[in-house]
Amino acid sequence: MTLSSIKTVPVDITSCGCDDPTLAAKLIPVNVALMRGLELAIAVDETEIVPLERALGRVLAEPATTPQPLPSFDNSAMDGYAVRLDDLSGEGPWQLPVFGRIAAGDAGDLVAPKGQVLRILTGAPVPADIDAVIMQEHVTRAHDSITITKRPALGLNIRRLGEDLAEGAEILPAGVEIGSREACALAAIGAGEVAVKRKLKVAIFCTGSELVAPGAALAPGQIWNSNRFMLLSALDKPWIELRDLGTVPDQPDDLIATLKDAAAGADMVISTGGVSVGDEDHMPRLFREAGGNIHAMRVAMKPGKPVAIGKMNGALYVGLPGNPVSAFVTWHIIGAQILAKRAGLSKTEVTTDIVSAGFDVTRRPGRKEYRPAQIVGRDANGIEIVEVMSPSYSARVALLSAADGLVLIPAEATEASRGEALDFIRFS
Ligand code: AMP
Ligand code: MG
Repeated sequence: MTLSSIKTVPVDITSCGCDDPTLAAKLIPVNVALMRGLELAIAVDETEIVPLERALGRVLAEPATTPQPLPSFDNSAMDGYAVRLDDLSGEGPWQLPVFGRIAAGDAGDLVAPKGQVLRILTGAPVPADIDAVIMQEHVTRAHDSITITKRPALGLNIRRLGEDLAEGAEILPAGVEIGSREACALAAIGAGEVAVKRKLKVAIFCTGSELVAPGAALAPGQIWNSNRFMLLSALDKPWIELRDLGTVPDQPDDLIATLKDAAAGADMVISTGGVSVGDEDHMPRLFREAGGNIHAMRVAMKPGKPVAIGKMNGALYVGLPGNPVSAFVTWHIIGAQILAKRAGLSKTEVTTDIVSAGFDVTRRPGRKEYRPAQIVGRDANGIEIVEVMSPSYSARVALLSAADGLVLIPAEATEASRGEALDFIRFS
């Protein structure tokens, strides 16, 4: 792979495509559209206190700090024998009687007489006069005594009070999604109840008179609604309270009524279809008629140019294009980040990896491309090589399910060739 720069030309994509009439019609860069959406996305500030069991998958509202040092007492890291160094005088080997046994959950107040050791198990409290724990594999045991051949270092195999976290230290910042690692951390500091952000109220609907629910028979000209299920899956989160308004035909009155209904009481409204320039594509206009403002539309991305970002009262609006690949890409690049910020998550950005292009393209510059791509191997440096699957892809949903991720081609690029370094968004 070479790190040589991709061939580019300057492109004029500086104007807006929003409600300001002096800035009409031109495309806005993806980052600008995203920035506008993120600016509108004020994080919900209401919190709820819930038992830890019900906090799983929610957004942590306040930093979590430990009320006690972690661990909260010196304890054994191994199954073995607890010894005092004073009992190992002169040259070894030393043969010492085993006085008693301490297991995890015991109080740890057992004291061995001078010259004797204690059997100790992992997690057991280490008595105050003990200097080290010798692994059971490193001693020989016969009847009630052990033979030690090597003097252990002071503190060997003892997990010290506070060595993981000091009392009052932060274990998690606010704004994290409580996944399995976070749940483990909260439980480890004894958090029986957790302050989480209240659930985000999200309303969705799909526009299109051609749409029919999967499972139903298709009349001529009809297709099954795939975007609804893409959104239902993407929004299936414990921190979302979803309202699914289903499918709405391309009738202005129905669409306005649905927009108003969706926005009432919602934190975010997401629609698909009807945002491009076709005769039936009226969502941005109808959104304004319903009382909202559009803050960005016509974004310099491919697929997904017609995505619209707006606001109606307290509800943020993201109007995704109808083509399933476009809807998916704009959702991941723009919609999901806005949603995450609105929900109070601190991590909103999409993670990218560097890959090596396994293809050549010549293209018209101007729009940043997100192409479904497959990983096909690794180059001599171990960098993954990706291949794009088809030159046209915005309506080809089969490409999406076969892809490993999206390869990014910069807006200004006029060509990208084999071996060049490109950003890649991996599907998880
Ligand atoms: P639109 O953005 O409404 O102009 O739609 C663009 C293309 O995507 C058209 O071919 C639509 O039939 C198709 N489409 C729109 N919505 C959906 C949907 N929910 N599921 C599958 N295809 C759709
Ligand atoms: Mg449509």
